[in-house]
Amino acid sequence: MKIIGHATVLTFGHDHRVIEDGAIAYDEKKIHGVGTTEEIRKRFPKAKVRSVHGRVITPGLINAHMHLYSTFARGITLKDEAPENFVQILERLWWRLDRSLKTEDLYVTAMIPLLDAVRNGVTTLFDHHASPHALGGSLAELRKVFQKVGVRGCLCYEVSDRDGASRRDAGLEENANFLRGLKLDADPTITAMMGLHASFTLEDTTLARAAELAKGLKCGVHIHVCEDKADLDDARRRGYRSVVDRLHRFQLTGPDSIFAHCVHVDPLDVQTLALTRTNVVHNPRSNMGNAVGCANIELMMKEKVPVALGTDGFSASPLADLTVANILHKHQAHDPRKAYGEITKMFLQNNPALASTLFKQPLGTLEEGAGADLVVWNYFPPTPVSAGNTLGHLLFGLSNATVDTTVCAGRALYEEGKYTFLLDHEEEEICAKGRELAKALWERF
Ligand SMILES: [Zn+2]
Repeated sequence: MKIIGHATVLTFGHDHRVIEDGAIAYDEKKIHGVGTTEEIRKRFPKAKVRSVHGRVITPGLINAHMHLYSTFARGITLKDEAPENFVQILERLWWRLDRSLKTEDLYVTAMIPLLDAVRNGVTTLFDHHASPHALGGSLAELRKVFQKVGVRGCLCYEVSDRDGASRRDAGLEENANFLRGLKLDADPTITAMMGLHASFTLEDTTLARAAELAKGLKCGVHIHVCEDKADLDDARRRGYRSVVDRLHRFQLTGPDSIFAHCVHVDPLDVQTLALTRTNVVHNPRSNMGNAVGCANIELMMKEKVPVALGTDGFSASPLADLTVANILHKHQAHDPRKAYGEITKMFLQNNPALASTLFKQPLGTLEEGAGADLVVWNYFPPTPVSAGNTLGHLLFGLSNATVDTTVCAGRALYEEGKYTFLLDHEEEEICAKGRELAKALWERF
């Protein structure tokens, strides 16, 4: 048992509170106590105590939608004219990039953003993977990287009909095989879902097969939904009222499923999402960058749709997306009062709730019994902190602060600016390898 104390503790969760001179007692299995440093020392007199001297401690952060494979897009030059719309962005950038990935690229493309994630306080990450020409065994390859780094991962392969029937079948198989393998060895840090690209690249027969497999394997789907209006137009052309209507008819909605984006959904879709308790993940920076529109999180959250926050490959920092979510909805509505309540709930309650559901244990909150995932921030609050003003400190303080320590499942992954699982200069070597592999990929691209 260890105690980390003398901190301003932000608990997050439904009962979010701030504990001055707070402490947490934990081991690899779970958090055993949260309270003032004095209380915790009394309860666990034999535990080793580390003082963080007034820094802030939060739970490990959760990134609810990410694409680790996107790493080599950084600085890439497109071979065609600049894309005019979202579908062209996919055709000219992302689909060319994912088709160019080789098996040897997977380790480094995952390792680099996972190192960034740890340095940004992330301990749980929901990845959505694509590598159609390095498909079989790709999730097992990613799993190795998650285990080396030590963060929790919810993995999936994004099945699509866009690369033909054999790759579609291989994608379904990849998800199913990985999910079956997980049932055999119970590693609490790795879980998986049935990954699907997006409704507009999936035939009805594929949706039916994915639904059947997911039902048999007792998991939800992780899919892009109405990121752009093109997805909605496609569903209508196929004779459905909307994308959500189409996915619901194939029984792909539900509390274990993640619908990323939901920018182009209407009030009826919102009712369906709410009634089925389907998780929506909002990715504000990606949506702005692709110029696809602004998700109506106010309506969704008013109707009690569980909306969480992700970064969609834009970066490894959920706090960076939180700061953009804060200003995007104000800007969109021409109303500076917007979004405070929604994004506070999204980040402090819904991200932890999503992770807790899918990993089948309380995560993302500092409470007794939760997974021992926590972050010590180099942030000494210059103004009072309370449960009511936590968002202000997240947006304007913690988002600019560096991380001192990241702990996941009771294990310190990062301490005083150093990764505990890397040798000296190993990070530089990984990045050098990245430059070499990226250069070769850019030539194939
Ligand atoms: Zn995405």
